[in-house]
Amino acid sequence: MTETKLYYDKDADLSAIDGKTIAIIGYGNQGRSQALNIRDTDCGAKVIVGNIKDESWEQARKDGFEVYTISEACKRADMILLLIPDEAMHEIYQQEIEQHLQKDKVLCFASGYSITYHLIEPPKNVDVILVAPRMGGKEVRELYVSGKGFPSFLAVKQDASGKAKKTALAIAKAIGSTKGNSVLIEVTFEQETLSDLLSEQALCPLIMAAWIAKYEVDVENGVPPEAALLELHLSGEWAEDFKRMAEMGIVKQLPLHSKTSQYGQLTRLNQLLTLEKESPNYNQIKAFVERQAEKIKNGEFAREWSVEQEAGYIMLKKLYEKYANSPMIKKEQETLRMLRQ
Ligand code: NDP
Repeated sequence: MTETKLYYDKDADLSAIDGKTIAIIGYGNQGRSQALNIRDTDCGAKVIVGNIKDESWEQARKDGFEVYTISEACKRADMILLLIPDEAMHEIYQQEIEQHLQKDKVLCFASGYSITYHLIEPPKNVDVILVAPRMGGKEVRELYVSGKGFPSFLAVKQDASGKAKKTALAIAKAIGSTKGNSVLIEVTFEQETLSDLLSEQALCPLIMAAWIAKYEVDVENGVPPEAALLELHLSGEWAEDFKRMAEMGIVKQLPLHSKTSQYGQLTRLNQLLTLEKESPNYNQIKAFVERQAEKIKNGEFAREWSVEQEAGYIMLKKLYEKYANSPMIKKEQETLRMLRQ
């Protein structure tokens, strides 16, 4: 295994983007926050916005940016930050971006998806980099304003200029990622795609399945559904636990729970991992994760997702309908209304 490359604020030099025009393409979750952060960073770069003519366009104007069509913004820019949804990216790239990618331009992604699956194949004479915050767009701005950073993944796919890494580091610093000495980790586009999609397709479904099972067993044993839901996620206690895991580590935060809780958590985890008789089968859980990883790596998921998009998101709508109308989620919404009274 090669050594992980980590970078911090001292490794990033804003002079790599000084005097450059940076086009933020897509003024949404990430786009707005990154545009505001770069403008507020004293980096000598000019930020312009490229968007379709909609509310986000108006928002960018209100925020004081020069706003252009995507094509015009890409024409004017030295560096293009692609912050539109992954599923829309390749079409927009072909129609409005590709023709403006002359030598020395930089194409910067916040997700590895389009490059990993060859949906976008940039010309060889441009730099292709990735600066992917491990943070939602809203928090990217909030943390910046409060003087804190957030970790990001960095990657270089093409280094036509010989300066691609320096540019990626400078962009990461300008969007506020390295504030508070927060870390940047170098990965490949493919690794970013795998890790991101595997969280969504293996970890989240397993957590949600465990959530549903716990709710059902609570209620089958007479616990009021509202109490079961509070105990799950509605009280916010779990959200606090996850925050502490991020700050202190999974095991180090355990002493903040009661001794009964610590004993219960560790013994049952150990039963699960060592395949004790009455525990669920960990090998099946691991096999499920491995199967999803395989489908991500061999492109099966990407093909499935393209077919779904072309079909007008039929399955996605059906599943939203199914789960929004499931007894647990209906009760969850009722409980939320009750809690807000
Ligand atoms: P958004 O869903 O917020 O959309 C960004 C912008 O793209 C919006 O202005 C949106 O307009 C516009 N847009 C949507 N569809 C089209 C289209 N068909 N043509 C042109 N413009 C369109 O995107 P995110 O900020 O969530 O994601 C941007 C990138 O950042 C993605 O690559 C994503 O994977 C990555 N990323 C996202 C994170 C997140 O927390 N969301 C975290 C890390 C990376 P409108 O507002 O009108 O819909």
